[in-house]
Amino acid sequence: MNDQDTILHKRPNYCPNCNSVVETDIVFTYTLNVSYTDELQNQGQEIILCKCLNCERPILIEEEFINIEEHSWVNSSTQLYPNADNVALKNAPEIVIKPYAEAYKCYRAQAYEACVIMCRKGIEAICKDKGESKGNLATKLLGLRSKQILDDTLYNWANELRLIGNDGAHSHDLIVTQQDAKDSIDFFDALITYLYHLVNQYNQLTSRRQANKQGV
Ligand SMILES: [Zn+2]
Repeated sequence: MNDQDTILHKRPNYCPNCNSVVETDIVFTYTLNVSYTDELQNQGQEIILCKCLNCERPILIEEEFINIEEHSWVNSSTQLYPNADNVALKNAPEIVIKPYAEAYKCYRAQAYEACVIMCRKGIEAICKDKGESKGNLATKLLGLRSKQILDDTLYNWANELRLIGNDGAHSHDLIVTQQDAKDSIDFFDALITYLYHLVNQYNQLTSRRQANKQGV
């Protein structure tokens, strides 16, 4: 085995489960769409299945690579699994997407207090977007509940994010753990999915069925 082989079988990767860059084993690679510009230059895609050596969970990555003579570059790298994308983000307004993206960035940087503060900011943004701007955040959330924009369960989730965010911002004794930060992002994610995706999808479904009925 030469050096190249050794490098091919291990590489550092971000593991979402460990939430850190860890050493991983490359279990399998699949190269596709390779095109040659000339004898010395080619480019293509590679799908790489890795195993985290810390928690043993799988990670699947897609890379666009380019090789020129003995040099090679990776132009883009996308993690396919576990998939962290939220389809609802496409429909959410900019003021909500921004704190969500920031919260995620903080989480990956292991800045868990900053993460929960960003989630709280995201809840503020949702209130603003839904027309609640008077009073403090607790009042605004009650406003959303009384308008039935949030049902009791979603109200409780949003209110919990407000409280965790308060702890992150004001308490010097309470420690925000990785799990707190992960849960905060998950609840924030669920609120976005409900408010900006599922509600629209439901409205589209009912109007489509209505139109079909009238067509018969
Ligand atoms: Zn791991």
